[in-house]
Amino acid sequence: MTGTVHIIGAGLAGLAAAVRLSGAGRTVAVHEGTAYAGGRCRSYHDHATGLLIDNGNHLLLSGNRAAHDYARAIGTEHRLTGPDAAEFAFHDLRSRKGWRIRISDGRIPWWIFDPAWRVPDTTWRDYLGLAKILVASDRPLGEVIACTGTLYDRLIEPLMVAALNTSPPESSALLARNIVRETLAVGGEACRPRIARDGLGTVFVEPAVAMLRDRGVAVRLDHELRALVLEGERVVALDFGGDRIDLSADDAVILAVPAWAATALVPGVSGPTAFRSILNTHFRAVAPAGTPALTGVLGGTTEWIFVFPDRVSVTTSNADRFMKEPREKLAETIWGEVCAVTGLTGEMPPWQIVRERRATFAATPEQNARRPGPSTAWKNLVLAGDWTATGLPSTIEGAIRSGNAAAALM
Ligand SMILES: Cc1cc2nc3c(=O)[nH]c(=O)nc-3n(C[C@H](O)[C@H](O)[C@H](O)COP(=O)(O)OP(=O)(O)OC[C@H]3O[C@@H](n4cnc5c(N)ncnc54)[C@H](O)[C@@H]3O)c2cc1C
Repeated sequence: MTGTVHIIGAGLAGLAAAVRLSGAGRTVAVHEGTAYAGGRCRSYHDHATGLLIDNGNHLLLSGNRAAHDYARAIGTEHRLTGPDAAEFAFHDLRSRKGWRIRISDGRIPWWIFDPAWRVPDTTWRDYLGLAKILVASDRPLGEVIACTGTLYDRLIEPLMVAALNTSPPESSALLARNIVRETLAVGGEACRPRIARDGLGTVFVEPAVAMLRDRGVAVRLDHELRALVLEGERVVALDFGGDRIDLSADDAVILAVPAWAATALVPGVSGPTAFRSILNTHFRAVAPAGTPALTGVLGGTTEWIFVFPDRVSVTTSNADRFMKEPREKLAETIWGEVCAVTGLTGEMPPWQIVRERRATFAATPEQNARRPGPSTAWKNLVLAGDWTATGLPSTIEGAIRSGNAAAALM
């Protein structure tokens, strides 16, 4: 095709497709419904804390190749920071004990044989059962591995909840398998934690939009697609309410909007119908020197503490149970936990709570089975987004891969 590719949605799926296609010399236009690009992965100025915050802390691993390639393509890979080793700090609020695990490089998991590197109070034999994940079919993870015991409580549950945003026993073993195959099974070189230390926007969003505009791509914000005008096997026009764009025979559309928007716009398209929320709590505080950039926390509301230069931010995944809790009470509980882990003291500093109610689709086998591939019944309409059939849960990596896959079909 040689016409214009209209990309609907400027989340990471849409931006990745736009970067690929414009880089290949294609004519591209991006239409974003809100006033900002980035979708569920963005930074903004927050009045309560007076800081630039992210809508939610995002953790990548060094094995997320598509995400790193995308960042490299827009010149921001160096802004994804993290340790040189696959090391993770943990703290249990109940026992007040902390420990670190370190995953050795290479496919042979030497680290499970070293008591200093593996999870405390586990033996190497405990890890053997995890091999079952590597060959799992799509059934609940709870039917594949025992979701109890020290190894599960201290490592598998925290990692799986972070990756799948769904209670592990009910999660899709297939999605867990695909993550494990690309990270833990590869070894430490694929498991190094990577964080957008200066904000998600500076790594994934603003430089991409600037690059697109430099290349002559129109990135139109506040331009919400209201309807696709479909005739026979083609999309013939885009209806934005106030204006309409008629498509020529060579024009095509990548619909890179969330599942709920896509299923409303495209007749007969299936998609996930159940979603899970994520709670993020940001404090304007500087953590004591030496505090790890990332700490997994057990036994409280806090699950992961992220330390940034000017703030300490806490993630609680699979957080539907906290959506109705009073904000002040939640912030106080979480601040107490942050103090217990980091050694910070004193009155609660300025804070903000961000509750993303439909942060990800529920990563269950049933929901996974509802995900469509990129092609549709309309010849010039392709789907993208973390909710399409990427083989991964709702993640940056999945979103970017879906954008790349959609671009490859143009
Ligand atoms: C709080 C939180 C924490 C997360 N943590 C992690 C993490 O640690 N690691 C990780 O890898 N992933 C994480 N994720 C998931 C990750 O953010 C998403 O998977 C990814 O950003 C999805 O990108 P997307 O482009 O598929 O969808 P979206 O970001 O939803 O983008 C879709 C875009 O389409 C726009 N749109 C919708 N309807 C229309 C319309 N009709 N017309 C025009 N535009 C429209 C939307 O406004 C949006 O900008 C997290 C998500 C949240 C919310």
